[in-house]
Amino acid sequence: MLKKETAAQMNEKTDVMDAVISLAKRRGFIFQGSEIYGGLAGTWDYGPLGVALKNNVRRLWWKRFVDTRDDMFGLDAAILMNQNAWKASGHVSGFSDPLVECKKCQHRFRADQLTDPKKCPDCGGQLGEARQFNMMFKTHVGATQDETSISYLRPETAQGMFVNFKNILDSQHPKLPFGLAQIGKAFRNEIAPRDFLFRAREFEQMEIEYFVHPKDWEKVFAHFQEEVKAFIADVGLDVSKVHELEVPDGDRAHYSKRTIDFEFDFPFGRKELYGLAYRTDFDLKQHSEFSKVDLSYYDEETKERFIPHCIEPSFGLDRTVLAILTDAYTEDTLGGETRTYLKLSPSVAPYTVAVFPLLRNKPQLVEKAREIFKMIKKTIPAAIFDDNGNIGKRYRRQDEIGTPFCVTIDFDTIEKGAGVTVRDRDTGKQERVTENELISFLTQKIK
Ligand code: ATP
Repeated sequence: MLKKETAAQMNEKTDVMDAVISLAKRRGFIFQGSEIYGGLAGTWDYGPLGVALKNNVRRLWWKRFVDTRDDMFGLDAAILMNQNAWKASGHVSGFSDPLVECKKCQHRFRADQLTDPKKCPDCGGQLGEARQFNMMFKTHVGATQDETSISYLRPETAQGMFVNFKNILDSQHPKLPFGLAQIGKAFRNEIAPRDFLFRAREFEQMEIEYFVHPKDWEKVFAHFQEEVKAFIADVGLDVSKVHELEVPDGDRAHYSKRTIDFEFDFPFGRKELYGLAYRTDFDLKQHSEFSKVDLSYYDEETKERFIPHCIEPSFGLDRTVLAILTDAYTEDTLGGETRTYLKLSPSVAPYTVAVFPLLRNKPQLVEKAREIFKMIKKTIPAAIFDDNGNIGKRYRRQDEIGTPFCVTIDFDTIEKGAGVTVRDRDTGKQERVTENELISFLTQKIK
């Protein structure tokens, strides 16, 4: 049975979301899309700190799944594709959600997300019959607007990989098993975008289509199940908040014989973060049939020709950013003062080190701090210099954006050659480190 949440628990959850959204805007992580025009629902713009955080996630993903393996090929396919690709994949006929409209206030909802499918959650009015609403954004390519010029903004990056399967075989000559990996935008005209970055209309996916001999699918599925969890740890998420859900028969997508949803405890509930699916040979078969191009694979050793099967780990980049921000958001008391900070892993924090002169109006301190900053930046590019306001405020500012370490240059640094202080974001504790040892000290800590 579901446990009822108390009003206090529910408030606490909305508060965390409100606090994260407000921090994200205030500090330049994420802004509402087209904000000065009143916004555009389901779109978000990443500011300088958000881009840095997102790029770090992207890099960690590419490193784990492409750079450190010898069986994976990168791809960057076009967002617009021939409409026949979407007919073959089943998206034109089947990529829809059930839409209901309130007869009184005309608000629209996804029928499968309502607790009472007859009653409007906004005004209590009666809801109409559900109808299927296709979520693909339709557009026309070229100057004529007729049936033949229809195209769609891709609702998933996956199909770009299936349609390039033969190009990869012909240009790279890989042996099975091998995979294609791609990071890029996807678009879905969601009926009800909500929960900040969680359900957007424009978002980014990081996807792998990994091709195997059908007899090997279970082994490879199990391998990626572990790899998904390893990536979750790479970005510093609390793994105890991740739960694997075996999606039962009847609830899986039409192409899938097995799916595991990796769910995360977001402040608004336990929701899907990533998916892992066994897509069988469905997509390659469909594209072979619709394009009339042979997408089979010939195994030189066994002299066998067959359509490979596919395992697909699918990751939402923006959902990862949201999970990281909500997981990292922390309030505590330090030195008798309450503070808000982001407990970000150094692997994803926009800045890993901030460098300050103790006082801003002492040229020798500023000069020395700049010199040390330049030295650090050569090895640790995500370093920032700050001499605004007093030192306490600078620490708070860096805490708020999740910078793990602050290096301060004081009079002992220049007068006694006593090194610098390095402050730890989480404990607020400072230790003295000599200039010579500083780089190795920091690189050890952020490893
Ligand atoms: P949901 O059930 O939440 O709509 P889905 O099962 O349709 O998601 P998939 O088609 O499996 O999602 O997409 C793969 C991944 O892409 C998801 O696990 C999620 O991380 C991300 N994703 C999907 N839809 C959105 C969206 N509207 N906004 C942000 N990320 C999304």
